[in-house]
Amino acid sequence: MILLLIPFVVGSQNIDLILHNGKIFTAEPDKTSATAIAVKGKRIYRIGDESILDLRGPNTIVIDLKGKFCMPGLIEGHGHMNGLGASLNSIDLLDAQSWDEAIHAVKLKVAESNKGRWIEGRGWHQEKFKKLPLDAVGGYPSQASISAVSPDNPVILVHASGHALFANAKAMSLAGIDRNTPDPAGGKIIRDKNGNPTGIFEENAMELFAALRSSIEQNLNPDEQYQSWERNMQAAQELCLKNGITSFHDAGVSVKDFANYVRYAEQGQMTVRMYLMLLDSIKNIESIEDRLPMKGHYNGFLTVRAIKQFIDGALGSHGAWLLKPYTDKPALTGQNVLDLQSLSDFAEYALNHHLQLCVHAIGDRGNREVLNIYESAIMSQRDHDNLRWRIEHAQHVSPEDLGRFGKLGIIASMQAVHCTSDAPYVTKRLGEERARTESYMWRSLIDSGAHLANGTDTPVEKENPFDCIYSAVTRKRKDTGLEFYPEQKMTREEALLSYTLWNAYAAFEEDLKGSIKVGKLADLIVTDRDLLKCPESKIPDTKVVMTILNGKIVYQQ
Ligand SMILES: [Zn+2]
Repeated sequence: MILLLIPFVVGSQNIDLILHNGKIFTAEPDKTSATAIAVKGKRIYRIGDESILDLRGPNTIVIDLKGKFCMPGLIEGHGHMNGLGASLNSIDLLDAQSWDEAIHAVKLKVAESNKGRWIEGRGWHQEKFKKLPLDAVGGYPSQASISAVSPDNPVILVHASGHALFANAKAMSLAGIDRNTPDPAGGKIIRDKNGNPTGIFEENAMELFAALRSSIEQNLNPDEQYQSWERNMQAAQELCLKNGITSFHDAGVSVKDFANYVRYAEQGQMTVRMYLMLLDSIKNIESIEDRLPMKGHYNGFLTVRAIKQFIDGALGSHGAWLLKPYTDKPALTGQNVLDLQSLSDFAEYALNHHLQLCVHAIGDRGNREVLNIYESAIMSQRDHDNLRWRIEHAQHVSPEDLGRFGKLGIIASMQAVHCTSDAPYVTKRLGEERARTESYMWRSLIDSGAHLANGTDTPVEKENPFDCIYSAVTRKRKDTGLEFYPEQKMTREEALLSYTLWNAYAAFEEDLKGSIKVGKLADLIVTDRDLLKCPESKIPDTKVVMTILNGKIVYQQ
């Protein structure tokens, strides 16, 4: 008999990664204090103190955190991944100090674009220009200079305010706009002294380009469409990892985009875990229903088990559906954008196909109607509080309805940063009483036992999670310091949970991620400051030093 002597090797557990000497926020309820984590493969193997270093083997990567803060990877609870990418791939004119800079930026984009490709930019503001071009009309530059550098590519440059846009001659001619086009209701076309449009379209006149945009997209051949989608994904994912976002709930994906996601995932290109909410007709969703629900496919990068719908619009544009009229427009109560019967049909479809339903509701009437539909659909179900249906935004909720979220197990999927962005006009729209008792009521919702999710709705807002966490814990604008009913603040810990474990719960993934726990996925981030203890004012500037996903370092500062 041959006796094999196997020497005892320290670290024979094949530990791949050890992080030690850190301040670790586990997001677990027991609040165990830990300074070190061992990772084996994709998962967390052990959590503890410096004695974890004893697990080190010859191939273990050991990282000394030098006292830095480490927490679970962040989960964006409501955003638009491809829209974020599209915004990154468009021209950023926020810092343009002259119209010439805008022209130059367009010229560069034209040089790298195929003829006819739609070119978009945003962020210019004539008030920031040191001087205006000679042919300016009404304080705005006119289209000739940009048409000269982009004769064949339609160009749209959205004003920093979002309330006006600039179009070049190609864009106007494709949209069928000329001197005979009348100003639409609620909008204005700026014209020169001869009555010709100068390229500036204010408010509702911007809509004149909406149909053009989608027709241009459709005119690309399928490969070109996919390439443009892919380019957006790459840019958006890269930015997410830089911000510590390891998972992302995409709040509105058409069946066509679903196919793009599958193709992208099949090629192994996904670097952020995606949770998709399908936004399409029942007929289109039926065409892929044999593949649903899809849970953690492609190495845990793609989950599709939710559908999205809208009941109303937004508060800023008086589109939120209210129980009582707007304070600043007493004839209006907002817009119901999908009739209640159709929404009930979606609810039934979701129930029959084991899909989560996520409905956008901003106004108090919108929220009440969605709660009513949810209640009648789910109360017949045995496991109704585990259906985890969501209301996206849940922004203005009547005090009478607040308790229904917790009672029915409905998730309030809120975006803390919307509160501080909207703060300057909420009271104008709704009056003091509704602003105080109905708006962004996350404290009341948490206290009444509701599950919350948190996110930014990027690219509607910047994707920066730390701005959003700052809004959640201060309800203060970081620029002006304006504070919006601070009694509804979250605690620091709640805000971190809202970006980790709570968002995992909202996607049925709390057993897999969202906290640092043995057996869970090793999705972790290290930040340059202690998010539980740093001064409040320092939260927005937080930098992610390292992002780890599936146990691998995927971003390092
Ligand atoms: Zn959204």
